[in-house]
Amino acid sequence: MNPDTRLEFPIDTVPKNGTMYSINDELHWVRMPLPMSLNHINLWLIGSNDQATLVDTGMFLDDVKSAWTDLISKEKIDIKKLIVTHMHPDHIGLAGWFVKKFNVPLCMSRTDYLQCRLLAADTGEYVPHEAIDFYTQAGLSEKQIKNYIERFGFFGSIIHKLPDAYNRIKHGDMISIAGDEWQCIEGRGHTMEHICLFSKAKNLLISGDQLLPKITSHVGVFPTEPNANPLDDWLESCKRLIDFVPEDVLVLPAHGRPFLGAHKRLKTIINHHEESLSKLEEFLTTPKRSVDVFPVLFKREIDDSNFLMATGESIAHLNCLIERGLVSRNISEGIAFYERV
Ligand SMILES: [Zn+2]
Ligand SMILES: [Zn+2]
Repeated sequence: MNPDTRLEFPIDTVPKNGTMYSINDELHWVRMPLPMSLNHINLWLIGSNDQATLVDTGMFLDDVKSAWTDLISKEKIDIKKLIVTHMHPDHIGLAGWFVKKFNVPLCMSRTDYLQCRLLAADTGEYVPHEAIDFYTQAGLSEKQIKNYIERFGFFGSIIHKLPDAYNRIKHGDMISIAGDEWQCIEGRGHTMEHICLFSKAKNLLISGDQLLPKITSHVGVFPTEPNANPLDDWLESCKRLIDFVPEDVLVLPAHGRPFLGAHKRLKTIINHHEESLSKLEEFLTTPKRSVDVFPVLFKREIDDSNFLMATGESIAHLNCLIERGLVSRNISEGIAFYERV
């Protein structure tokens, strides 16, 4: 069954990239371009244009900056508060630019703020041998490792320098925006401390990448923490979100269209990962490398543009099975092999 047929998309208008659509006087939907197959991000302005709170910013790219500059002048937007859901470049890229332009503090979670500064600091640095060992163990080819080395530090190039100070927001905090209280709900697994914003009074959830209508968010393992188990964090966060928001909440996601059916979608996401885990476990009757399990986990073709993401996501599933005691890992001649126990 296609799960998306059970979701409702009650807003017919979708703003074009670089423009804004006002859902009502106090809620404005901005779309900005992304230079990838996922070609847009949704950003949210809450409150009147001259007293707005902005949630997420878009990537630090010239066309996004100029689209924002045009939109700000055309709609007479004045930003009084800036909130970022998590540290990915499409969400946080222009945060430093907004902080300077409007002299507002950046509000976000502590872990994601620190993690973002850490990753941005890699730009121009050498590639640590731990990272090369990690991808070699996973079974990447020499050409793919070379490709990784060439792209190392790219993260910092699509993020404006972050401000040196920020305001921490955390799970359970209530933030006052345009006369309503918005509750911060933490999610883990996509990043370490992703924040969703929920208004009970308005029955709205700004979900960032924690809950998306069509695509499943990336949940991956990275070289800095090779034995991490972000998938169990992610599954637990999805289950928790079901408890925090009602089924009829209007979800305002970072990618795709606003939708109704939060619980259905969260259950579909949980089931999707659990099914992948079962299929993967069955596939491991003989030892396999991380790169050998791609066909079990991904329908899309894995090429030069997405093999790092696919590798991280495969290891996330494998580490989850290891932690559940279902799979073992053995290193042989520098390559990790996984097998059902
Ligand atoms: Zn993200
Ligand atoms: Zn995103």
